[in-house]
Amino acid sequence: MTKKAPYKGVLIAGAGPVGLVAAADLVQRGIPVTVLEASTALSEESRASTFHPPTLDMLDSLDSAEDLIATGLVAPKFQFRSKRHGVIAEFDFGAIADRTQHPYRVQSEQFKLTRILLAKLVDRPGFGIEFGKRVDG
Ligand SMILES: Cc1cc2nc3c(=O)[nH]c(=O)nc-3n(C[C@H](O)[C@H](O)[C@H](O)COP(=O)(O)OP(=O)(O)OC[C@H]3O[C@@H](n4cnc5c(N)ncnc54)[C@H](O)[C@@H]3O)c2cc1C
Repeated sequence: MTKKAPYKGVLIAGAGPVGLVAAADLVQRGIPVTVLEASTALSEESRASTFHPPTLDMLDSLDSAEDLIATGLVAPKFQFRSKRHGVIAEFDFGAIADRTQHPYRVQSEQFKLTRILLAKLVDRPGFGIEFGKRVDG
């Protein structure tokens, strides 16, 4: 997918989660953005599996948290375990429910987030993306 836009505003190298989150934030603020991605498509690597509460709050401000949560598993608690001792510690995100809108972790693949972000960006005025374009400097 290529959506050409005049190179004005901000140029972003790379359509990974960092580049597309930056693009979503800038476009939301009315600043035009062109993303140049070296590969011919978004990465299909899974990589990240865990999204933490502050990340979900941040994605919410970009209208993307709900769609991501729908793709994953919601974990209101997590545990440290060892083979010998079993559960060593358990953390309950309910303890920070007054500090976050998302008192849980979400287990989902990183490639799902970049697709959600791009789908929301692609028709926004001021947004452009070109694949197969490596930034050299
Ligand atoms: C095995 C593994 C497990 C991980 N697990 C987690 C986890 O559970 N939770 C978590 O939060 N994080 C996790 N991470 C880290 C997370 O994947 C990275 O922090 C994240 O990918 C960084 O995003 P990014 O957009 O900066 O870079 P990337 O995801 O690497 O994306 C960079 C993009 O830029 C493109 N690019 C590179 N150079 C250029 C150039 N010169 N010009 C144009 N385009 C370019 C690349 O093709 C790529 O599409 C994990 C990472 C790995 C490897």
